[in-house]
Amino acid sequence: MLIDGHGREVNYLRVSVTERCNFRCQYCMPEKPFSWVPKENLLSFEELFLFMKVAIDSGVNKIRLTGGEPLLRENLDTFIKMIHDYKPDIDLALTSNGYLLPKSAQKLKDAGLKRLNISLDTLKPAVAAQIAQKNVLGKVLEGIEKALDVGLGVKINMVPLKGVNDGEIVDILEYCYDRGIKVRFIEYMENSYANSDLQGMHGKEILAKVKERYEIKTVGREGASPSFNYYIEELDYEFGLIDPHKHDFCDNCNRIRLTAEGHLIPCLYFDEALSIAESVREGDVEAAAKVLATVLKEKPKENRWSTSLEDGDTSGRAFYQTGG
Ligand code: SAM
Ligand code: SF4
Repeated sequence: MLIDGHGREVNYLRVSVTERCNFRCQYCMPEKPFSWVPKENLLSFEELFLFMKVAIDSGVNKIRLTGGEPLLRENLDTFIKMIHDYKPDIDLALTSNGYLLPKSAQKLKDAGLKRLNISLDTLKPAVAAQIAQKNVLGKVLEGIEKALDVGLGVKINMVPLKGVNDGEIVDILEYCYDRGIKVRFIEYMENSYANSDLQGMHGKEILAKVKERYEIKTVGREGASPSFNYYIEELDYEFGLIDPHKHDFCDNCNRIRLTAEGHLIPCLYFDEALSIAESVREGDVEAAAKVLATVLKEKPKENRWSTSLEDGDTSGRAFYQTGG
């Protein structure tokens, strides 16, 4: 079992396999970065896996692959199969923008993927093109249907933005209800990479939009997840709200993050990270385990989103590098 310096059990590893993306979402990567991480700095799947085995053997039983857009990384299905074959009962999930799913969903399922979170911010082609700066909606919707067809578990993530897609909160909720899948509304997180004209919606404002149409009941936090759940009796349907500005979920935080270059990040908020790159490149499992132990020992007690935003400070962490 992995226990951090504050006595919390850490059993969840999020792995960003690439920072590259085929979308330019206004809230994440509105412009192509000045330079990508050079290919030679990226860890190979074998190197990432060497560390992941250390983590799995020590108690990690939940892994999420993310990015950038993880489906851009070649042979991702082979990587998924490596993880699945090592521990078939591991809770193995992926977060994707869905664009490449029509042609890859079956391969991912066959490789052992169990669940997918897909980002869907709008059902209007023009709004999708405005947010992602590319004509994406048709492929994303096709990708969602394909993932469901092949039997993958699907959840939808939506980031509501004022004056952009705030009129579609109930539409997206009903789209998900019709397909028997859960939607989670994510509060927009200010960051220095995002288009500075964007205005996010507070959790309360998002809930108010749902309340205009449905009566809702509070359910509560979903385990160690930052998602807080609500129930609509009329539909017998539960949806989630992720408010990363809060830190009441930090007490139960169970996760660490690994980037494609090998940075092991103890908390999304903080810049601190240690690298496992050298140890896995040398095949030194013990050194990798030591880095993991240090990162766990130093994992902060809670994030500081709320306080720093009051100070007018915004996060310098790019979502596309950490995988959100
Ligand atoms: N490309 C994939 C996707 O879009 O689902 C995976 C990576 S993306 C960084 C992971 C999640 O972070 C997505 O659900 C996206 O909506 C969310 N995200 C990105 N930037 C955000 C921001 N500024 N505030 C809140 N959520 C954000
Ligand atoms: Fe790409 Fe996902 Fe960021 Fe959009 S949110 S730019 S799809 S990484």
